[in-house]
Amino acid sequence: MIVILKQQTNGEQIDEMVKWLSSFDVKVNLVQGTQKTILGLIGDTTKIDIESVKAKDIVENVQRIQEPYKNANRKFHPDDTIIEVEGRQIGGNSFNVIAGPCSVESEEQIITTAKAVKNAGATMLRGGAFKPRTSPYAFQGLRADGIELLLAAKKETGLPIVTEIMSLSHIDLFADVDIIQVGARNMQNFELLKELGHSKKPILLKRGLANTLEELLMSAEYITAGGNQNIILCERGIRTFEPKTRNTLDISAIPLLKQLSHFPVVVDPSHAAGITTLVEPLSLASIACGADGLIIEVHNDPKNALSDGAQSLTPESFEKIMAKIKAQATFSGKVL
Ligand code: PEP
Ligand code: MN
Repeated sequence: MIVILKQQTNGEQIDEMVKWLSSFDVKVNLVQGTQKTILGLIGDTTKIDIESVKAKDIVENVQRIQEPYKNANRKFHPDDTIIEVEGRQIGGNSFNVIAGPCSVESEEQIITTAKAVKNAGATMLRGGAFKPRTSPYAFQGLRADGIELLLAAKKETGLPIVTEIMSLSHIDLFADVDIIQVGARNMQNFELLKELGHSKKPILLKRGLANTLEELLMSAEYITAGGNQNIILCERGIRTFEPKTRNTLDISAIPLLKQLSHFPVVVDPSHAAGITTLVEPLSLASIACGADGLIIEVHNDPKNALSDGAQSLTPESFEKIMAKIKAQATFSGKVL
């Protein structure tokens, strides 16, 4: 249930209202937005008589929430969540491009690629240190050394770093990582999500290969339930019957997620398509649909990449695509 308060309500009246609602054994979340003050009630609200809440002088409206996610719900939190990362913002009017290789492979590779994507206008650096590979015989990532190399690339370029966590046991290695990615395969690793809920770090939460938007938002809810409200949702394509692309980018997920939730939404056209030629059109379409950012694979030598070379852009093609991304973002009222 959410209780929307009238604009002229004062602090004392709000406190009194919170106290009264709490007496029904529910948790009351106070959200003071720029336009509205909202009380979000979490727990069993069946004992609360909606009419008696509406009858209070300071109440403008009361709504029952149907969705099982509360903290992630835009009804509870009408303003966009804006996440601060190293002096940059994700969400609101800001647009971010996170670029870099699928996997961190060597110092030379990550530094060269980081410099190239920065010169082209990327705002953050991606790179996998722990890699979720389908085959146990495929390259598994440089693990802890990969994180060290990302930190070296950050030192060199100033770009904040985004990298994937695969196990709870590795969490200490992520102490200096700016954004922790939860990959598609771990979207429903609930123990991992609970632990990340206790962290203050921004979490880039990717949609699972065959998960609904409600399941994605429930996974976000797991993180928020632990206290961490810094979540970036990521649409990266879902599995369909179409074999011409690696996955199918669910373009309607972008405006839907923006309506259902207040969290920023970024799109990964690289894993959605699996082929470089689709990265530009999918990127531009995503911006037109309201995305707050893109995460794009770029490699200094894609032909020899240890993972995902077929979908990785060269620095030159990334630079060309960035010019169009900037124009499209500006057209959509975003600042890159
Ligand atoms: C990745 O970002 O390299 C990755 C493995 O992504 P996903 O979890 O979306 O497959
Ligand atoms: Mn990849």
